[in-house]
Amino acid sequence: MDFRLGDKSDAFREEVQAFIAEHVSDDMLDKVAETGTAHDWDLHRAMGERGWIAASWPVEYGGQARDPYEMTAMKDELRLAGAPLDGLGNSIIVGSTIRHVGTEEQKKRFLPPLLAGEYIFALGYSEPDSGSDVAAAKTRAVRDGDEWVINGQKMFTTLAHESRYVFLLARTNPDVPKHKGLTTFIVPLDAPGVEIQPVHTLGGERTNITFYTDVRVPDSMRVGAVDGGWDVMTVALTFERGGLGLSEADRLWRQTVDWARSTHRDGGAVIDEPTTRERLANMAIDNEVAKLLAYRVSWVTASGGLPGVEGSMHKLWYAERLNADTSELLDMLGEEGILGGEDGGPVAGMVEHTYRHAPVTTIYGGSSEIQRSIIAERGLGLPRSRR
Ligand SMILES: Cc1cc2nc3c(=O)[nH]c(=O)nc-3n(C[C@H](O)[C@H](O)[C@H](O)COP(=O)(O)OP(=O)(O)OC[C@H]3O[C@@H](n4cnc5c(N)ncnc54)[C@H](O)[C@@H]3O)c2cc1C
Repeated sequence: MDFRLGDKSDAFREEVQAFIAEHVSDDMLDKVAETGTAHDWDLHRAMGERGWIAASWPVEYGGQARDPYEMTAMKDELRLAGAPLDGLGNSIIVGSTIRHVGTEEQKKRFLPPLLAGEYIFALGYSEPDSGSDVAAAKTRAVRDGDEWVINGQKMFTTLAHESRYVFLLARTNPDVPKHKGLTTFIVPLDAPGVEIQPVHTLGGERTNITFYTDVRVPDSMRVGAVDGGWDVMTVALTFERGGLGLSEADRLWRQTVDWARSTHRDGGAVIDEPTTRERLANMAIDNEVAKLLAYRVSWVTASGGLPGVEGSMHKLWYAERLNADTSELLDMLGEEGILGGEDGGPVAGMVEHTYRHAPVTTIYGGSSEIQRSIIAERGLGLPRSRR
């Protein structure tokens, strides 16, 4: 069995490393940490210029037909550098969905500027009463001639404050079973009646609540069939779970090892303490398993499959182990470990920050419980736990 990604991916990895050296700066990373907004326009547009926003797409759609192994190498490097990629992630999800289910007019209108990095999309699925059970969305869209009138509220509309559009899931028919009365729309976030309120999370990320009051969009902004929104969501969610990243833990591990090598306490280097070595070794093993699970996702995709269960396995492992490992690292640092970077905390405050961010990874993109259900039902053939 050969776990390397291959010569082509190695060459692309080097290209990405050179790009990062030119375009990802410490100032950029400081700004992301300060604002909690994991998006940078200069970086995003530079990725657009390179043709890397949808590098895996076929050439006729503006991509470079990069294979899943090359994409894994690219994502590994960008994440390892801490590059802010939420805007890129959303662009891939919405762009891929439009490419698969949008009209020809929508493809012509939205895809070229999206791939050039001119604008990004926010994802408007979750609501105050529906996150895991996203099909229970209550935001209403009512037809009025050639237009739709939208009223409701979306919770956790991350990047709405930077996005031109929100990809919105709305209820168009309340009289049929919940999965059958939904429709998806592209809604301009500067339309009259849209309000964006910031939400600052425990993990430092900024997200938003978005409110929609009598917001009007033409029927041409509907994606997929009327009441066919669940089919569209099925496509969109596949791209969300396929868009994996794992290097936050790798980056943290490397920086903690550097710190442990260069820091002394009780007369010796921290790296020589047996408990430190055990904790770092355990985390290295967890990160390696996470990487192999991610490579498995790439392999399934490269073999023409849809990595549903495999994506859930990777996400569950990564999120759960990140929580356990950052807790161990925080203990290892001792009292000073709870200081942030700006207060002179060890490892530039990275352990403290990632410890706060780790629980969030068990929530977004489908919570750990939901991932367990997917693995149990689709992977192991156990009975359904949800309706
Ligand atoms: C920082 C952040 C950014 C986000 N960004 C976006 C975004 O851009 N767009 C967007 O639409 N959403 C976004 N989300 C929302 C995210 O997808 C939801 O928070 C997530 O799906 C969980 O939904 P919920 O918060 O409503 O919790 P709930 O669904 O109410 O879950 C509460 C608890 O119950 C458990 N639970 C729920 N149902 C089941 C079940 N059937 N079986 C077992 N356990 C269950 C959950 O695992 C969880 O522990 C974001 C969330 C966060 C925290």
